[in-house]
Amino acid sequence: MRNFFSLLCLVLTGALPGQSAAPPNVIVIFADDLGYGDLGSYGHPTIRTPRLDSMAREGQRWTSYYVAANVCTPSRAALLTGRYPIRSGMTSGVHGVLFPYSTGGLPASEITVAEQLRSAGYATAAIGKWHLGHLPQYLPTRHGFDRYFGIPYSNDMDLQSELSYGDFWRQPHDSIRPGNFNVPLLRDTTVVERPADQRTITRRYTEEALDFIREQKDGPFFVYLAHNLPHVPLFASADFLGRSDRGLYGDVVEEIDDGVGRILDLLRERGLAENTLVIFTSDNGPWRSYGLDGGSPGPFYAGKGTTWEGGHRVPAIFWWPGHISPATVRGVGTTLDLLPTLSALAGVAVPDDRLIDGVDLSATLLEGAESPRQEMIYYRDTTVYAVRQGPWKAHFVTQGNYGQFGAREVHDPPLLYHLGRDPGETTDVAATHPDIVRALTALADRHRATVVPVPDQLAEWRE
Ligand code: MG
Repeated sequence: MRNFFSLLCLVLTGALPGQSAAPPNVIVIFADDLGYGDLGSYGHPTIRTPRLDSMAREGQRWTSYYVAANVCTPSRAALLTGRYPIRSGMTSGVHGVLFPYSTGGLPASEITVAEQLRSAGYATAAIGKWHLGHLPQYLPTRHGFDRYFGIPYSNDMDLQSELSYGDFWRQPHDSIRPGNFNVPLLRDTTVVERPADQRTITRRYTEEALDFIREQKDGPFFVYLAHNLPHVPLFASADFLGRSDRGLYGDVVEEIDDGVGRILDLLRERGLAENTLVIFTSDNGPWRSYGLDGGSPGPFYAGKGTTWEGGHRVPAIFWWPGHISPATVRGVGTTLDLLPTLSALAGVAVPDDRLIDGVDLSATLLEGAESPRQEMIYYRDTTVYAVRQGPWKAHFVTQGNYGQFGAREVHDPPLLYHLGRDPGETTDVAATHPDIVRALTALADRHRATVVPVPDQLAEWRE
């Protein structure tokens, strides 16, 4: 009977079961430094995120979703290429991320999600934070995007102050202004505003996405909307300032939420909701050292810059009415998987001349199948610090960051946690599970054996 319906589905739509007839539009909304615990639908008690919460109710809400790096630059490289950033040289033992003085960027030889989708006839737009090289040869318009509007790196860069970075942040928050950060705002490759007025940047990014969607006539489109916020310094527009019970951090997240709602509203108005996959996630865990200006990791330990769960596990919501059924997904997924998944939905082959670390999650999205991903490798810079396989996670090295969560420590035997029973990584059970320790150690060794040295793109620096 089931086969009969599958066959009927094939005849009626001309598509394979589980595959949509037409390639969907795709919108990836990527927050910066938003923690696992910062949305209502992920348990935050005071930040109001009604639009993301209803998106989560109507779609899939993932609870074991990871980024492949715990800071901005390598995390973005992983999302766009489907490869651990060690493979593209976009992670470094010298500098953690790209800076305004950096002269490197994502190599032209890398194939991005945008290039994949463009080859299937998609119109493509990058909006917001790029952070994969700000020199002309590295900008989004050289990596598969038809257009770009945004700040090409982090919003705390280009500090204009007599004070050093460390001291500046000890100033009262109301003394922190957009002009303190002389960051450029680019349209394609041209600076159109400097310093970018960050008080309105979240709203303007949303409006840029709305304009791009309105311009589309026929043919699919891809929007990569990477907000600069809630990465510090925090700014919200007048409509949101002072509104949240969570203070300024909450104001910022609530404005992002409102923008997500405006995008979903437009898709519905234009009859595009059932042909558009919208994905919301974050580039790494919260920046805990900023106290109340940083977010929450929810039940997880530590945050940004560490390989504890708080650094890598992020909220992830997949919404596509009529195609994705409402569910909470507890299987493992990562931003690495977007390239193969979106390629499959668009009917484009994944590049076969290189190692792709992502796996195709489309059967999980469309049919509720169990996630095919069992493994996750946690890098800090160029070193494997930890691995996950099924519910187990082994830490070979642990290290805090930004003055928190402890000094670097090498563990032999590794620490072992069961992330099902112990999501907060509180109780090391390595002594009672030597077989699991051996299996996870072998997994790390197998992964390392696949890594081929490439030039460090983050090391190049103009004095
Ligand atoms: Mg970040």
